[in-house]
Amino acid sequence: MAETMWGRVRERLEQSVGANNYRNWIAPLEFADLEDGVARFIVPTNFMGNWVQRNFGDQILKQFVSDGAKVSRLEFVVPKAQSTGRVTPPAPANGNSRPAAPAAAVVSAGNGGELPGAPLDKRFTFDNFVVGKPNELAHAAARRVADGGPVTFNPLFLYGGVGLGKTHLMHAIAHEMTARRPDLRVLYLSAEQFMYRFVQALRDKQMMDFKHMFRSVDVLMVDDVQFIAGKDSTQEEFFHTFNALVDQNKQIIISADRAPGDIKDLEERIKSRLQCGLVVDLHPTDYELRLGVLQSKVAQNAAAFPDMRLAPGVLEFLAHRITTNVRVLEGALMRLFAFGSLVGKEITLEAAQDCLADVLKQSDRKVTVEEIQRKVAEHYGIRLSDMIGPKRLRSIARPRQVAMKLSKDLTTRSYPDIGKRFGGRDHSTVMHGVKKIEELIGSDHQLAEDFELLKRALEH
Ligand code: ADP
Ligand code: MG
Repeated sequence: MAETMWGRVRERLEQSVGANNYRNWIAPLEFADLEDGVARFIVPTNFMGNWVQRNFGDQILKQFVSDGAKVSRLEFVVPKAQSTGRVTPPAPANGNSRPAAPAAAVVSAGNGGELPGAPLDKRFTFDNFVVGKPNELAHAAARRVADGGPVTFNPLFLYGGVGLGKTHLMHAIAHEMTARRPDLRVLYLSAEQFMYRFVQALRDKQMMDFKHMFRSVDVLMVDDVQFIAGKDSTQEEFFHTFNALVDQNKQIIISADRAPGDIKDLEERIKSRLQCGLVVDLHPTDYELRLGVLQSKVAQNAAAFPDMRLAPGVLEFLAHRITTNVRVLEGALMRLFAFGSLVGKEITLEAAQDCLADVLKQSDRKVTVEEIQRKVAEHYGIRLSDMIGPKRLRSIARPRQVAMKLSKDLTTRSYPDIGKRFGGRDHSTVMHGVKKIEELIGSDHQLAEDFELLKRALEH
C-alpha cells in the first residue's frame, strides 16, 4: 500500500523537480518501507542519499503529507557492500561493535556530501588580475561566466601557454560565484586530480559515488585538461561527466595549454564537444601587460615591504627583459623585494641586473631557425618538410617567406645562412621573401596579425 503511495508521490515529484532531476535523483530511489513516520529508501551511495535529502527532502515530505501519509522524516539506506564510509563513521575493523542484523549503513541527513576539489588560491581574484590586450577576451568571458546569469556558452574553454593566467582566472570565477551564491556547488580541480579520483573510485569500487558526486555540482572546472589526453578510460569518464552536466545546463569551465583541436591523443568526440562552447585563448603577454602586472604586484606588496624602494626604470627593465611568463616575472620581483629588504636601500637598475642575472640569462635564450620553421608550419597547418622543400604553391611559399622574415628578425643569421637552412636556397630568394613579407605587413591585415602572433610566441 505504501508502495503505491510512493508511486503517486513520485509522479507528482516528477512535475515539481523537473525531468532532469527526476531522472537523476528521484527515479533511482528504491522505496523500502514506511514505519513510525519514517519513510525509508534504499540508495546506491551515501552521496546520493545526502544529496536527495538536502535538495529534495522537503518536497518529498510535502508530497507524502499531501497524500495523507504520516511521514515526518526520511531515511536513506545504503546496502553495506556499497557503503562508502565517507559520511557515516568508518566501521571498526573487526566489525563487532556494529549491529550485525541489517547489513546497511544509515546516511546522516544534512550536508550534501563534500566536494573533493582542490583548494583555491585567495590571491587569484578578479581584482588582482591585470587586464591587457593579450587577455582581455579571456577575462571578459570569465567575468561573464562568473556573473552567473543564464548559461550562454558551455563549456568556456580557456587556453594558452604556461603562466598566462588560466588558473588565476578559473579561481577568480570560483571565488566570485561562491561569494554571490554560497549555496552553489562549485567544483574546481585539475585534470590530474580528476583522473586520480577516478582511478581511486575504480579501485575502491565506488564508481556510483564518483558519478553521483560529479553529476551533482552546479559548476565544474577542470584545469589543464590536456593531461587526460591518451588516458583512455579517464577520457571516457570525463566525456560522460561532461555530457551529463551540459544536459543539465550546468556551467563547465575547462583550461588547457592549447586549443582543443591541437591536443594530441584526445578523442575526436571530446574535441568537438569542447569546441561547442566558447573557446578563448590567452595570448603571450606584451610589454604593457607585463608592466601592469609588475605595478600591481608592487602595490599589493607595499604593506609587506614598507621600505621597499625601486629606482626608476627597474620595473620597465624587467617588463622588457623577462618575457617568458607572468610566473617568472613575479618570481623575479619577489626576489628583488627580498634582496631590497636585506640590503635596506633603494634597488638600482644595476643591482637588479646583478640580483637577477640567472633569470635574465635564461630569458635571453635565442630562437633557432628550426624552431621558427616548426612554429610557422604548425601555425599554417603545413608540413615542416614543405618549409625546406621545393613547392612553389602560394599556400606554402607564403608561410615559408614568413619564416624567413622571422629568421632574419629573431636570429643573427645572415641571408646566405638562412637560405642554407631553407633547403639550400639562394640568398637572393631569402631577401626577396623578406621584402615581400615587409610589404604585405603593410597591406594585408591577416598576414600582419599572423606575423605579430608568431613573433610574440617565438620571443616568449
Ligand atoms: P597558468 O595557469 O596559465 O599557467 P597561472 O594562472 O597559474 O597561469 O598564473 C601564473 C602566475 O601569474 C600567478 O601567480 C598569477 O596570479 C599570475 N598572473 C598571470 N596573469 C596575470 C594577470 N593578468 N594579472 C595578474 N597576475 C597574473
Ligand atoms: Mg595553471
